[in-house]
Amino acid sequence: MTLDLSLERRVAIEAVTLAARLCRGVQASLVSDDTLAKKDKSPVTVADYGAQALVASVLARALPDVPLVGEEDASALRAPEGADVLRKVVREVTALDPSLDEAGILAAIDRGTYGGGAKGRAWTLDPIDGTLGFLRKEQYAVALALLQDGEVILGVLGCPNLPVSPGSEERGAIFVAEKGKGATVRALGSAEEQPIRVASLADPKDASFCESVESGHTAQGDSARVAELLGVTAAPVRMDSQCKYAAVARGEAAIYLRLPTKKGYEEKIWDHAAGLLVVEEAGGKVTDTRGKRLDFSIGRTLRDNLGVVATNGALHDAVLAAVGQVLGYSS
Ligand code: AMP
Ligand code: MG
Repeated sequence: MTLDLSLERRVAIEAVTLAARLCRGVQASLVSDDTLAKKDKSPVTVADYGAQALVASVLARALPDVPLVGEEDASALRAPEGADVLRKVVREVTALDPSLDEAGILAAIDRGTYGGGAKGRAWTLDPIDGTLGFLRKEQYAVALALLQDGEVILGVLGCPNLPVSPGSEERGAIFVAEKGKGATVRALGSAEEQPIRVASLADPKDASFCESVESGHTAQGDSARVAELLGVTAAPVRMDSQCKYAAVARGEAAIYLRLPTKKGYEEKIWDHAAGLLVVEEAGGKVTDTRGKRLDFSIGRTLRDNLGVVATNGALHDAVLAAVGQVLGYSS
């Protein structure tokens, strides 16, 4: 039996579109060099809270019984020191949804505190994935997914700065994947969808791979050794956020490597749920570095997994073998 997710799909796209608009507005007002030099993270903080408030409100209105695992909660905004940020969040959110007020915005953000688990449905949300990319005016994503009994059944990935199709001038793409029904891309604000497909190449030498810009988020030295073992000659494509999953899903890269940097780091479910389904439904494969499926059923983190490997499918076994060799896994 296939699920009818037409309501969930429509609502999720509406929510991500609204959040992407807020992010674009805040980003446009950034004086980027200035903000970065002063290490002023406040614009991203305002956009993070604002995006979560908008998404959570849209979801709560349409599907009030489905809980939300969101990256943010409103405790810092409720504290006296948070008053200034809260005022800005309220200004940005009410500009896009005038029906909300301060109390409603705080309550909406706090819908995100659900702990996840193996039973029933839950949304996962990263309101701004790739915050450093957002500050650099490069790539970032609004990542929303629906889990059912720990399986991702719907993924909506808004990428406000990504070209709608490779090489296109028009920026702002939303990737949508529904379990068993394929993956598509649409321009932000348009309802017209194009199916997407991973690259069909089967020789790793022809592949290009993507990874985080931040060396603290992935072991770039290990990736370089994996690439060398595979005979990959193209330089790595470094990109922030789940836009990397989108790049694999539409064939711009055949491999995405996220190799562990420090012991004990647990990947967060909102950093992977939407991207994973977009890649799988475009014909690709996603596992951890040991070849295990990502387990979204055990709470807010992927604590039973180690790193992530996403590929076009055809290359998966070869990539895992090289990763295992570099990371010293015995076979
Ligand atoms: P990316 O844009 O792909 O570099 O990933 C951004 C995400 O990395 C953020 O949402 C964080 O949750 C996550 N992150 C933070 N620290 C680490 C770490 N040590 N290893 C892997 N991911 C991390
Ligand atoms: Mg994130």
